[in-house]
Amino acid sequence: MTETADIVVIGGGIVGCAVTWHLAQLLGPSARIVVCDRGPIAGATSASCMGHLMVTPDNAQEYAFTKKSLALWAELHEKVGGFDYNPTGALYLADTDEDLALIPVLRQQFADHGDRADVLDRHQLAQLEPGLADDIPGALFYPGDGVVLPMLAAGAMLRAARLCNASVAVRPMCAVTGVVRDGSRVVAVDTERGRISTNRVVNSCGVWAPDLAELFGAELCGAARLPIHPRAGNLAITGHHVSPIRTQLLEISYLRFAHGAAKIDPTGNGGDPGGHAVNMQPQTNGGCLIGSTRQFRGFDKTLNRELLHRSLLRARRYAPGIAAAPIVRTWVGLRPYSTDGHPLIGPWPTIDGLWIAAGHEGLGISLAPITGRLLAQQIVGETLDVDVTPYLPGRFVA
Ligand SMILES: Cc1cc2nc3c(=O)[nH]c(=O)nc-3n(C[C@H](O)[C@H](O)[C@H](O)COP(=O)(O)OP(=O)(O)OC[C@H]3O[C@@H](n4cnc5c(N)ncnc54)[C@H](O)[C@@H]3O)c2cc1C
Repeated sequence: MTETADIVVIGGGIVGCAVTWHLAQLLGPSARIVVCDRGPIAGATSASCMGHLMVTPDNAQEYAFTKKSLALWAELHEKVGGFDYNPTGALYLADTDEDLALIPVLRQQFADHGDRADVLDRHQLAQLEPGLADDIPGALFYPGDGVVLPMLAAGAMLRAARLCNASVAVRPMCAVTGVVRDGSRVVAVDTERGRISTNRVVNSCGVWAPDLAELFGAELCGAARLPIHPRAGNLAITGHHVSPIRTQLLEISYLRFAHGAAKIDPTGNGGDPGGHAVNMQPQTNGGCLIGSTRQFRGFDKTLNRELLHRSLLRARRYAPGIAAAPIVRTWVGLRPYSTDGHPLIGPWPTIDGLWIAAGHEGLGISLAPITGRLLAQQIVGETLDVDVTPYLPGRFVA
């Protein structure tokens, strides 16, 4: 007999898990929700990233989007816990005159939203972070950011889902291989473990969201291919109990480097030389996670030793003690970059029953809870917590 579901979430990374959590909350205990991943839960990008929970104050929309998401992270910690949630705040560090000019700008952006970030003098900086170099020319501390361990967090979201709906079915190692349609309407998905009849599916496949979308039939998509491209990042982590820092740190130039739409060809065919701005995260085991580089080069996950070396040198410039900390592992993760720099959260307008939650680039951990909530709110027709207009996937339909 064919299995049936009210909704199938395809992709069990942090975004798919957040969607499952909020669907379970809003659809209630009788809904049949199935989440399938072709690998382990949170085994792809969400296992190869950093865990900075970041509020971005660039404008009112982005501030509300990130700030609300961080409030949902705090709520998850309170209700379920168990994912190394560490609200350290974030320390933005300057090194050049250009960086220094960014400090009052960022501080004012937070103030414009009624929030607070403090400019620290050398004495205050040394008190907060004694492991930093003593010649750092400027620093801004924002108390609202934090750090999590994303793999554990994905598990916590599924536990939160099951608290609302004990029958949520979680299927790792269960790829979705096909989609059955009746005209433009979804009626079932085929998985490695059989067919599931359903009229609602969520594509939360991260960098593979375009491949999954193609199963629905390219001719119905209206766009040539879903505009999400992998953007590689190289990371290094030290052993335990050697971190010279205890706050989430980042070069303030990270803001110029990381956010918004890139000017480089994202397909990986454009010879992107890549770039870096250092981001250092204390781990609860006393280790330090160091990133972060960005480069478009398709799905290639070979370590770019030269780029990584450059970010490690930047880490040493700010926290000299890191030079004595043994690096125990290095790896590459692929950020799901959408071509306009915004995620896709909502219905795909030309296919009845297809919803998308993907394309969060370097903010997917921060934004997972609000993404899950906004998608679930759209599905049940509830008032939205944050205006979703800039994230509606229909913007890419010709
Ligand atoms: C180096 C690096 C550093 C980062 N640092 C941060 C940070 O500090 N803060 C932050 O907020 N964000 C950060 N990010 C971004 C964040 O990691 C991503 O945005 C986020 O993990 C994307 O999650 P996802 O669920 O969309 O994708 P994924 O975690 O990749 O999940 C997609 C899932 O879909 C599954 N899938 C694919 N095809 C199928 C199929 N046919 N059937 C079933 N399942 C399928 C895959 O197996 C995978 O598990 C970083 C990313 C990188 C690479």
